[in-house]
Amino acid sequence: MMAEYKGYDVIIAGAGHNALTCGAMLAKMGVKVILFERNAWIGGGAVTREITAPGFKNDTHSWGHLWIHSNPIFKLLKPELEEKWGLKYIYSDNGMIGGAFQDGTGLIIHRSLEKTCEGFAKVSKKDAKRYKEIYEYWKEVRDGFIRHWWNPPEPESMSVAALEQTQEGRLMLRTQLLSCKDFVEENFENPYIRAFLLFFSLAPNIKPDQENLGNIFFIMIPHLHDYGESIAQGGSGELSHSLARMIEGYGGRIVPSAPVKKFIIKNGAAVGVELENGTEVYANKAVVTAVDPKHTYLEMIDKGLLPEDVVIGAEHFRPGKIPCSNSYWALHNHPILKSGPEVTNTGYWRCMGFVEDIVDHWSEIERGLVPTNPCINVDCASMKDPTRAPAGKHTLIIYTFAPYKLRDGTDWDDIEKEWGDRLLNTFRKYAINMTDDNIIARYINTPKKIAIDNPCMLDGANMGGEMAKYQMGIFRPFAGWCHYRGPFKNFYHVGPWNHPGGGVTGMGGITAIEIMKDFKILKKSPWAEWAED
Ligand SMILES: Cc1cc2nc3c(=O)[nH]c(=O)nc-3n(C[C@H](O)[C@H](O)[C@H](O)COP(=O)(O)OP(=O)(O)OC[C@H]3O[C@@H](n4cnc5c(N)ncnc54)[C@H](O)[C@@H]3O)c2cc1C
Repeated sequence: MMAEYKGYDVIIAGAGHNALTCGAMLAKMGVKVILFERNAWIGGGAVTREITAPGFKNDTHSWGHLWIHSNPIFKLLKPELEEKWGLKYIYSDNGMIGGAFQDGTGLIIHRSLEKTCEGFAKVSKKDAKRYKEIYEYWKEVRDGFIRHWWNPPEPESMSVAALEQTQEGRLMLRTQLLSCKDFVEENFENPYIRAFLLFFSLAPNIKPDQENLGNIFFIMIPHLHDYGESIAQGGSGELSHSLARMIEGYGGRIVPSAPVKKFIIKNGAAVGVELENGTEVYANKAVVTAVDPKHTYLEMIDKGLLPEDVVIGAEHFRPGKIPCSNSYWALHNHPILKSGPEVTNTGYWRCMGFVEDIVDHWSEIERGLVPTNPCINVDCASMKDPTRAPAGKHTLIIYTFAPYKLRDGTDWDDIEKEWGDRLLNTFRKYAINMTDDNIIARYINTPKKIAIDNPCMLDGANMGGEMAKYQMGIFRPFAGWCHYRGPFKNFYHVGPWNHPGGGVTGMGGITAIEIMKDFKILKKSPWAEWAED
């Protein structure tokens, strides 16, 4: 054991933003933490790197931070991150997300519900009214949802049983059983609104016809109006860096380029880790894995030590059927959308065609084909945050979904250039100035490259495990193992493969609270009022 790694209370394997959130909260409470990160950089899916050209900062995974703002645990941490450790969020209060269409039609989701509905009413008064009603429903369930989402999961049966008692409740239950495509077709009439909201709802790597997802519309989209959509100044990675500064400020340590090979288990308890270079490091109190469940349980712990249901759970854990692909662009000028200045000024566009185009795209993914006409999300963060690029220049992300493995055996590396051209040509149908002379440099991230960059993004999918009912709530990561603890004493889970799932959520705070409970320090922490001991 290397002397320099001695004396830490808690070891965390991985330094994504959730591990860092967990580490920062524990460090604040006087727990000595050390994090070992495989990559030369920290942040996992909340990372910003200059991968196109010098001075152009691109978010290599997440860019929009939405969920983290409704997380009451993070809310208690954020003021300190902002005041002492350099985090600054930029909110798009006016014009959060633009829906762009090739014929120049445009829709906008503003922070303001009223303003959003005014815009929707220009294409359909009926749909604008329905959109508002859905938001009103969310307001009624919001407090219950927030409590459920940011705590260890409870069985769904209690809320289902309550809903079954009334006709209104039964109708809501029925709606929840719908697929997103069925939902937009039942609730909205206008083809532009249907497509915009459907594509939005599929963001957590789900399929348009996947049933049991109708409640997304009562949560994800209304959520935006209450908590906003934001980017971190300087890049998504600045969230990770501010958390890292906080950990170090309280005496903790983060070691990059230090992959963890094995968890060391003795007498039924997790006691330390073995690094890839053979170094063994022991913790005084606990070990946390921020590494996905397949690597953690199928490669990093001797199988003979594991209960059978954990092994089966890890084998059956599904990464997600809708992997993603990102491309990064350094530009002279920001894109100008055919949909006009108001849509252009949002700096964040969903370009998806119509419902049939979305269905075609997803069907190609299912069949293992390179999407011919991909629906794309495009973000020009430098329009809101000029620190991301040299003066007057811009950074751009074109993000979409694609199969991890191609059916005909083609390697993504061999078609990366063509794929990048296809993404660019698709965006050219929506923007008027994406000409060759506007492009300084580019970098294409295929699903294959995403999974290599961060092995926790299993199969290049981004939600830390499929967000399907069989793998949510009390089934996440495995039935019976949903309380952020592994099958050994002093062994904890953190990351999107646990409730509530993927995204930049700061869910590492839930794990930190569980650890504080076990260490008997929760009561004196700032989180004592939020969490029940
Ligand atoms: C292309 C893409 C775009 C996305 N866009 C968004 C978005 O806009 N908004 C949003 O909310 N979410 C987005 N997401 C999802 C989001 O990035 C992730 O869900 C989130 O970052 C997960 O955070 P985490 O800290 O729990 O895990 P991770 O970020 O996956 O962190 C795990 C860490 O563990 C490290 N690690 C792995 N193995 C080892 C090992 N053996 N030893 C040591 N370290 C190890 C990894 O290198 C990584 O740093 C996106 C994801 C992708 C892939």
